[in-house]
Amino acid sequence: MIDCHVHTARCGHASGAVVEYVEAAAEAGVGILTFTDHLPLPVGHDAGYAMPLGELDDYVAEVAAVRATGADSGVEVLLGIEADWLPEQVGFTRELLHRAAFDVVLGSVHFIEGWAFDDPDLRHRYDEWDPDELWARYFGEFAAAANSGLFDVMAHPDLVKKFGVMPGSDPIVYYEAAAHAASAAGVAVEVSTAGLRKPCGELYPSAGFLRALREAGVPVTVGSDAHRPGEVGYGWDCAVRALREAGYDSVSVFRDRIAEEVSLP
Ligand code: ZN
Ligand code: FE
Ligand code: FE
Ligand code: ZN
Repeated sequence: MIDCHVHTARCGHASGAVVEYVEAAAEAGVGILTFTDHLPLPVGHDAGYAMPLGELDDYVAEVAAVRATGADSGVEVLLGIEADWLPEQVGFTRELLHRAAFDVVLGSVHFIEGWAFDDPDLRHRYDEWDPDELWARYFGEFAAAANSGLFDVMAHPDLVKKFGVMPGSDPIVYYEAAAHAASAAGVAVEVSTAGLRKPCGELYPSAGFLRALREAGVPVTVGSDAHRPGEVGYGWDCAVRALREAGYDSVSVFRDRIAEEVSLP
């Protein structure tokens, strides 16, 4: 098993220390574990969404320190980060990403006009949007993020469906556009099992989106987006089944920001 997206208590809304995630990986049979906690946000953002700026160096050191322990229990530990797409703050994000030698940088669209649309506490704000306009806006940001050159992988690529808000028309137009944007930009896309635990009740991306990615030749990674140790490796079988059905027979693992294909079981 492979899990290339997990958090730690440092981000303020997850539980568990780095070493506990490694122990959980060993127990679950996860052989490759990439830490991707939330990159600090600029001043003015809600403190609960990402690790504080003063903890970035500690995070990097803590993951490095656990590599040997991981190797002893059959877990290859990699150092990644999940960075928000903040179109007004590209310089800030780029500067922080240069502070450590990350194996992989995940790019996430969590904010639309400053609204954290995946925060359950802000769910009421969906009422302010026409679903088609929201989807168009989300996928516009997705394409811009993919194109930014900041990220290796676009995480949970159809996060906008988290609470079940779907466009009135067939979403395939958004999926194909996003797949072409990822392909043109040379970024991979994540298959995230987190969606299985959310109101939408399915993988990010949906089956139709995954097929569009496959047709566009976009490489994929797999992650649980675990926010507690017990979620490491979550839904791996489901991800493998969906990938096989879409025509994939391997997934990418990034080391030193270079992708290597690993065959699916
Ligand atoms: Zn999180
Ligand atoms: Fe995320
Ligand atoms: Fe995440
Ligand atoms: Zn996430």
